[in-house]
Amino acid sequence: MEDTIAAIATPLGTGGLGIIRVSGAKAEYVARILFKPSKKITDFETHHLYHGDIIAPDSGATLDEVLLSLMKKPSSYTGEDTLEIYCHGGALILQAVLNEIIKTGCRPALPGEFTKRAFLNNRLDLSQAEAVSDMIMAKTDKGRLLALSHLKGKLSEKIESLRGRIIAVLAFLEVFIDFCEEEDSLDSISVTTRIASDLSSIIQELNDLLATYEQGKIIRNGANVVIAGKPNVGKSSLLNALLGEKRAIVTPIPGTTRDFIEEFINIKGVPVKLTDTAGIRTPENAIEREGIELVRDKLSLADLVVILLDGSECLTDDDRIIITGNKNRNILIALNKSDLPLKVDIHELETILPDIDILQISAKYGQGLAQLKDAIHKAVIGCDAEVSPSLVIANIRHKIALENTLSYLSQAMKGALDNLPAELIAIDVRDALASLGEIISKTTNDDILNEIFSSFCIGK
Ligand code: GDP
Repeated sequence: MEDTIAAIATPLGTGGLGIIRVSGAKAEYVARILFKPSKKITDFETHHLYHGDIIAPDSGATLDEVLLSLMKKPSSYTGEDTLEIYCHGGALILQAVLNEIIKTGCRPALPGEFTKRAFLNNRLDLSQAEAVSDMIMAKTDKGRLLALSHLKGKLSEKIESLRGRIIAVLAFLEVFIDFCEEEDSLDSISVTTRIASDLSSIIQELNDLLATYEQGKIIRNGANVVIAGKPNVGKSSLLNALLGEKRAIVTPIPGTTRDFIEEFINIKGVPVKLTDTAGIRTPENAIEREGIELVRDKLSLADLVVILLDGSECLTDDDRIIITGNKNRNILIALNKSDLPLKVDIHELETILPDIDILQISAKYGQGLAQLKDAIHKAVIGCDAEVSPSLVIANIRHKIALENTLSYLSQAMKGALDNLPAELIAIDVRDALASLGEIISKTTNDDILNEIFSSFCIGK
């Protein structure tokens, strides 16, 4: 029998309520041992709320006045008997109640273990289980909606439908193998054409789904946008202006921002992590040199670099080094201090960077910021339009599974066109089916499951 697990399901801190969850065969036993209902009951009805106290059996002390509900299997989140105790939301109360629960013979749950059990008990498929974590971690409404559509099974439906079509190809091949024992190569033109045409339309749909990954990844994980520029051009002012609050220190002394300041902002539903870097200039000491090395690391991981120049001054060699050093990255140029007369040579910039958008802004006075946000959105998403999160993949595991499926199907297609024996083609089609199934299925090995669920929070 599986252990019964228990955890505090709400964040530790003070709040109106704190919830403890228990899942497994001992759930009802825990309620019987620790819960003293305010009205006498003989049996716990499933999915009912009961009012009463949690009592420590050893001392008889009341730990909290609570509401409690038992959800009997299989109609619970995990598919097992599950107990939820709604306590007052204080860390000490929750810890004391949890300690008593553990003493009854339960063990503390691992991160994501409730959802892992839901998956193992077929309450959710794997892509839906991942969506639970994505919902919790979503940084924007768009990310939340994307995760919700996966949780509601939109991705699973699509994968099941593609699997159904691959199974149909496989069935067709197997009939061919069974009935054409002597002639088992696909030498009949009509058979080859049928297989190739079915495979080609499945391949097309897989490609369409894969093409959504880059956008999906940005919606789910956010885009890394680094603001780079020499000291005093207004990077901290820009970060503050975009955030709408004073987070970075703004001073007229060059080189003030030593550490990175990283903050998320929401640009049209895309979570954008803005990093304000220490000003890049020829280092004057070891600390500055180290800081500049770290900036280079950040730059190499950026989805977009906003190069900030002081438009009210002529370009300097430090500016030119930053521009040429980032020329091959995804960049935008923003000329700050547009409230002052323009001195920078735009023509020189256009010559160095012929296809790059150049915007004029004033971080201090909030001018041009809407246009800058639009340009950032376009540069990280790859198009002007807002992304509709209905059927978008966003998870690298799904991407790899789709790529493997595609590769097997392309091989099968080539086999069909080359008139290879049906048995050989069927091997590739079976492998494709298995790869696609990994997105939703339980055939995934334990290591992968552990990796997926360990990234969840405890109590989920
Ligand atoms: P950083 O070193 O690049 O982070 O630059 P800061 O944000 O600390 O700004 C340096 C100086 O430029 C400060 O005195 C700011 O007030 C000033 N500054 C920033 N943005 C603007 C702007 O749009 N117009 C003007 N006139 N001054 C600005």
